[in-house]
Amino acid sequence: NALNFSGGPGALPAVVLAETRQAIEAVPEVGLSILGISHRSDWFAGLVEQTERDLRALLDLPDSHALLLLQGGATLQFSMVPMLLLRGSGRAAEYLRTGYWSAKSIAPARLEGEVRVLWDGERQGSGFRRLPTADELACSPEAAYLHYVSNETVEGVQFHHIPGLDGVRRVCDMSSDFLSRPFDPERFDLIYAHAQKNLGPAGVTLVVIRRTLLDRAPPGIPEILDYRAHLQARSIYNTPPVLAIYVVSRVLRWLREDIGGLERMDALNRRKAECLYGVIDRYPDVYEGWANPTDRSRMNVVFRLPTPEREADFLRRAESAGFSGLKGHRSLGGIRASIYNGMSLEAVERLAGFMVDFARHGG
Ligand code: PLP
Repeated sequence: NALNFSGGPGALPAVVLAETRQAIEAVPEVGLSILGISHRSDWFAGLVEQTERDLRALLDLPDSHALLLLQGGATLQFSMVPMLLLRGSGRAAEYLRTGYWSAKSIAPARLEGEVRVLWDGERQGSGFRRLPTADELACSPEAAYLHYVSNETVEGVQFHHIPGLDGVRRVCDMSSDFLSRPFDPERFDLIYAHAQKNLGPAGVTLVVIRRTLLDRAPPGIPEILDYRAHLQARSIYNTPPVLAIYVVSRVLRWLREDIGGLERMDALNRRKAECLYGVIDRYPDVYEGWANPTDRSRMNVVFRLPTPEREADFLRRAESAGFSGLKGHRSLGGIRASIYNGMSLEAVERLAGFMVDFARHGG
């Protein structure tokens, strides 16, 4: 099989794929295919509870924060967040525009109230290549909340500090780096992350929300868009994606038992990223990293070659050497090697070896 460096759905660990194959055949404890197990069964309620317990343990999540499994992807959160926190608040929300995905999050917020863009990375020279330092942000203590994307999947820029004022609600889209490193959940009021990078297949989105945010009912929204309805229904408000949640539960177990937790995951992810950036820096005539070095993503390594023809040649040769999904996002071009949690160090080292060969001998 080809190695999957795609920026969309991430590669999953081999052991999880094997368990999923087995579950499609039959879940051992139930004797039925996962594709036909009712979401109203006791087994599934137990699975959701176990998933929540495992996530809480991995994140060391305090009881002040609730955990929800929702649908609609990260894109639905672009709307649900401002519906809850901006609509009718009489305040402005602050957004950091640091790349393709945070740019997408702004228009839905504007439908709900005033938005101030505190930082626009597109205006900082040539595209979204760098992130603001803490000193560059004039955050207001009066803001309804601050919203940012911790890892910009398309451009490969990642925050290595937590922006914003601790007294102001902090909302973060962690879709493409959730569970890739430890962080302090107490510093966040709402975190969302779709599953299809580090956690499993598309279909389920994780939300971590400070319970006190739920005291205030957002006026005039359908129940399905109200976080409280999902909390009350223990994340089984309507038919959930049973298979996707099952895979997430296996990934969590792999993270805990095979990897050994988030600090270990972080150490491994750092080694993987250093391996590829090391090659990029060693061959500056061939590879140009997109991100400012201090803002480099450890999940999406984005780079260019001197001409579109060299890039096409690189992609062709990479494909025939068994490396798939390296073409950059359609909005940016270039090359993107996505090295989510499920991508092994060995696979990354093989790609690095290919890049060295290409730089030396053209492949
Ligand atoms: N936010 C980030 C950081 C993403 O990478 C993506 C998609 O890749 C999205 C949001 C949109 O996610 P979805 O397709 O699950 O709505």
